Amino acid sequence: MTSRKVVVLGTGGTIAGRASSGSDNVGYKAGEVNIADLLGAVPGMSDRLQGCELISEQIAQIDSKDMGWSVWLALQQACGRHLADQSVAAILITHGTDTLEETAFFLHLCLSEAERCRPVILTCAMRPATALTPDGPQNILDAVTVALDSRSSGVLAVCAGAVHAAQHVQKAHTYRVDAFDSGDTGPLAWVEEGQVRWCQSPLPAEDKPKSVYALDTGAVQVPRVEIVMNYAGAGDSLVRALCAASAAAASPLKGIVVAGTGNGTVNADMQSALEHAAASGIQVALSSRCAKGGVVCSGALPLGFRTYPGLSAVKARVQLMLELMA
Ligand code: ASP
Repeated sequence: MTSRKVVVLGTGGTIAGRASSGSDNVGYKAGEVNIADLLGAVPGMSDRLQGCELISEQIAQIDSKDMGWSVWLALQQACGRHLADQSVAAILITHGTDTLEETAFFLHLCLSEAERCRPVILTCAMRPATALTPDGPQNILDAVTVALDSRSSGVLAVCAGAVHAAQHVQKAHTYRVDAFDSGDTGPLAWVEEGQVRWCQSPLPAEDKPKSVYALDTGAVQVPRVEIVMNYAGAGDSLVRALCAASAAAASPLKGIVVAGTGNGTVNADMQSALEHAAASGIQVALSSRCAKGGVVCSGALPLGFRTYPGLSAVKARVQLMLELMA
């Protein structure tokens, strides 16, 4: 009988970071330790694997501030390739914390329903592998625990003992090891000494993606979507500069996501520049710069404007890019 497998895809991040001193938790270089060595340094791994075979693959070795489409596509393809093997019980992805929520959401929208029946779990660390007390090994062990829990499915993030859904997870702290938050929804579960205590179903019915974006990876022309923020004193200059530069750009602007104030509001000058952009065919998505809550609409939006209820600006950008590619 073929043994079950857990596949770990390495992409770099602080979890694979190295500093010159064990007491330095911030002055390190991310994406230095390869995935096989990282897994080899996790105590208690073979017990936690419950007889599953551990397979690792290095997809990238980057600081996740540099994350982008090429790595996302490589991850999507690797997930598809491994999940086509029915003996693969789960996929783990080691990732930097900075853009983990965007990668998780991208995979949530791009993996097929069949692929999302098994868990795809992103994990990370806030301290480098060389720290006096690195958090990476415990996070990896917890991620394996969640991966092999029979109730797990879909794209999840595991950090500091909490399990978050891809739709809701957000980096909320710059320094603490417990850096992630799921906003109003809260975490799905907690990992406690090798046990998963679920508080919510991994993928509530209302959160199932409306459409799954099958990407034609051969001919991908990634639509350019930028994010602008409204703030006290912000005017129309950024939006107008983006639109003006777009005509001559190699990759013309296709969308603008606004991280608006409060309930997605923008000042009058910016609003008129956005309406002008929308009239020229640029899609405008309104989101909020608030850490919690989503934009709540009453009445119709201007033509060419949309909102993605509950999505932060960075996730709205992922969704808009995928819609523009579909
Ligand atoms: N800059 C790092 C990264 O995102 C931060 C981290 O992983 O905590 O790769």
